[in-house]
Amino acid sequence: MTNKYVYLFNEGNASMKNLLGGKGANLAEMTNIGIPVPFGFTVTTEVCNKYYEDGKKISDDIMSQIYDSLTKLEESTGKKFGDNSNPLLVSVRSGSRVSMPGMMDTILNLGLNDVAVEAMAGLTNNPRFAYDSYRRFIQMFSDVVMNVEKRLFENKIDELKERKGVEIDTDLTADDLKELVGEFKELYKKEKGEEFPSDPKIQLMDSIAAVFRSWDNPRAIVYRRMNDYPGEWGTAVNVQEMVFGNKGETSGTGVVFSRNPANGDNEIYGEYLMNAQGEDVVAGIRTPLPISKLKDQNPTIYKEFEDIVNKLESHYKDMQDMEITIEEGKLYFLQTRNGKRTAQAALKIAVDLVEEGMLSKEQAILKVEPKQLDTLLHPAFYTEDLKKAVPIGKGLPASPGAACGKIAFTADEAKDRNALGEDVVLVRLETSPEDIEGMVAAKGILTVRGGMTSHAAVVARGMGTCCVAGCGTIKVDEKKRTVEVNGKVYTDEDFISIDGTSGNVYGEKIKTVTPEILGHFAIFMGWADEIRKLKVRANADSPKDAEQAVEFGAEGVGLCRTEHMFFAEDRIMAVRQMITSNDLEQRKVALDKILPMQKADFIGIYEALEGKPVTIRLLDPPLHEFLPSAETDIKELANEMGITFDELQSTVQELHEFNPMMGHRGCRLAVSYPEIAEMQARAIIEAAIEVKKNKGYDIVPEIMIPLVGEIKELKYVKDVIVNTVKKVIEENGVTLEYKVGTMIEIPRAALTADEIAKEAEFFSFGTNDLTQMTFGFSRDDAAKFLGAYYDKKIYEQDPFAKLDQTGVGALIKIAVEKGRSTRPDIHLGICGEHGGDPSSIEFCHNIGLDYVSCSPFRVPLARLAAAQAQVKQPR
Ligand code: PEP
Ligand code: MG
Repeated sequence: MTNKYVYLFNEGNASMKNLLGGKGANLAEMTNIGIPVPFGFTVTTEVCNKYYEDGKKISDDIMSQIYDSLTKLEESTGKKFGDNSNPLLVSVRSGSRVSMPGMMDTILNLGLNDVAVEAMAGLTNNPRFAYDSYRRFIQMFSDVVMNVEKRLFENKIDELKERKGVEIDTDLTADDLKELVGEFKELYKKEKGEEFPSDPKIQLMDSIAAVFRSWDNPRAIVYRRMNDYPGEWGTAVNVQEMVFGNKGETSGTGVVFSRNPANGDNEIYGEYLMNAQGEDVVAGIRTPLPISKLKDQNPTIYKEFEDIVNKLESHYKDMQDMEITIEEGKLYFLQTRNGKRTAQAALKIAVDLVEEGMLSKEQAILKVEPKQLDTLLHPAFYTEDLKKAVPIGKGLPASPGAACGKIAFTADEAKDRNALGEDVVLVRLETSPEDIEGMVAAKGILTVRGGMTSHAAVVARGMGTCCVAGCGTIKVDEKKRTVEVNGKVYTDEDFISIDGTSGNVYGEKIKTVTPEILGHFAIFMGWADEIRKLKVRANADSPKDAEQAVEFGAEGVGLCRTEHMFFAEDRIMAVRQMITSNDLEQRKVALDKILPMQKADFIGIYEALEGKPVTIRLLDPPLHEFLPSAETDIKELANEMGITFDELQSTVQELHEFNPMMGHRGCRLAVSYPEIAEMQARAIIEAAIEVKKNKGYDIVPEIMIPLVGEIKELKYVKDVIVNTVKKVIEENGVTLEYKVGTMIEIPRAALTADEIAKEAEFFSFGTNDLTQMTFGFSRDDAAKFLGAYYDKKIYEQDPFAKLDQTGVGALIKIAVEKGRSTRPDIHLGICGEHGGDPSSIEFCHNIGLDYVSCSPFRVPLARLAAAQAQVKQPR
């Protein structure tokens, strides 16, 4: 049997998202449950992959299935492509497994040609509308399918308006628009060297191909990488009978949500415009009305609409985002999907749906994207400062949060300035999909035009970036690069602050603060904690970080990088002295300075953790991060050490390494200079004894040895620690339990983990180094060439951010198995960056690790990801 590549809407259902895309599967489902949906068919995601495999061609067998479905669509609607009495017009839209708003292409009004347009003019008794649709189609097809610049068409419209002496598009008459159609076709011929295709079947096939190509346009690729969606998913294409919201005052179009996507309130929410097409709303060109107004304007339609919205929400058991069109008084639903929402709204909706009995806690846990939680932990304005600030404008509160930065006028600028470490707020008339990278880089987004469902608003909410949209009272001159409000001019050197919760805009710098976990957030996280099996610890190097981590729900510290305790200005001298000492005596002088600092830090961390476990790692300084390089620093240090500048400089030169990431770091340092490990072991144990005595916390320090590759080096360093600890315990006349374990971050350690586990009481996977060493990519240099790998589709993701489960993951699995073979109760965790990445956390759950450890701000995300992993695969 031949493969089925095309499905009519009555042939699919909601479970077929992978094949039909989210939009296609939902259109099928809606058709089946009796929602008024204009009929159509879906070309599957498989065809997208096949299109690329076949050298960007739609093969004959697929084409014939498309034509068969078209015939059925014609039969079902009673309309015909290119017909002179009742022509069929269709929309051609993308639709991947997950929605990627605005990232791919759409073609509307397809099927119009010189014959169909006349028929349409007659049918609607509205030639102006028919010719306006026709010119829009030519413009869209030329731009999207044939790459003829939109601007060229816009110029023609402007020229025509000038000739006719009119100001706005709607003042152009049917005849004017007919003239415009002729000019558009001529323009097309000039640009493409051929006639504009009048055969709707050719228009259709070219448009389907264009939508497939748009799967791989640069903004879609960036969006996929950002959201971790693989390229192999592909997009489906939906071909659907057109209904028109711009047929006059009894027609309209809207975008609506079954609950408020900004705050989660249980109320129908959205916007609509009478006499308009969907794109007018989404593009933010005209500012629409709140949907509640429709109730006054047309109570009968509103009632029907409300019933369907409620039906769809209970059917999908989730908040729905729907597109509607009213055509001459008849209501249609063009699509529905689980609506994108802010993190606040996601939490409220998840909690409400459980309380309303629609979902179980386990189901609700899956409704919030772990990465979204991030936005809740990000800054809000400092209340005292906010009280003093005076808004200079107010727009729509499109995506909550607070942002402050200097003004950036273009997406590229936002990206570049952010890369240089500057905080910027992107200020635009309106945003378009090409702006995606700049929107990611900006702290916040402010637009002059557009509503709550404009591109900027939708995308910002999805990313969790603060956004104020449609702030019409500020004047932005994108050419002059100025913002003007009430006569005051702001440039790219000025700060602007925006409040995405109130919509307020401030022409000044306002301090921001980190919020707490309260309300729905706390309830929801409580459920996640009840469900999950994987423990969550934090990587924290200071008492302050440790405190923050506990506030965010960390159950311990999984990695305290002791070298990070010395970046501070007043401490770096002592560390440099330790590193550059030429003999034991000099080094001991430095170590004596460091010991009390270390001890004080450990005390602070133990106290912040209130008895929860803490893993402290022995020093692992890549030398280049610590060596002095500036002449003044070398001079100062030489003075401190009582040696000459030249002596010290030559030591610094000797210490220079060609590849510091693989150099004299980790346990290698302790092998060369055991006195460093001795000092650290002493500080760790003395601090624990003191806190136990003073605060009564029962602390069991976990001492971790980094960068181990060989059992004998582990044993050597462990012996230094054990002997020191013994001494300290005896000196103090106390008893204290402690553990010694190791990081697994060198492939050799993973491969010999059965040996290593004889000495190590715990393993912590250092997947930053393990990734570096497995790929043979330097952590410091990989960013330089990974871009080329993404472009060539060799890698889709940064392996330093998302665990490479195939390679690095295989090593981890080997180490887990081997480690347990010699020490069945070995405690296992991960502390590389991957410990805060949802898909990597799922992997850790599935292979049975005991905990993940990540930065304090990612702790809530990790708690949720761990709970989701348990729901998906209970252990
Ligand atoms: C690691 O290598 O994964 C790790 C946590 O250690 P660091 O990043 O400090 O090398
Ligand atoms: Mg490491």
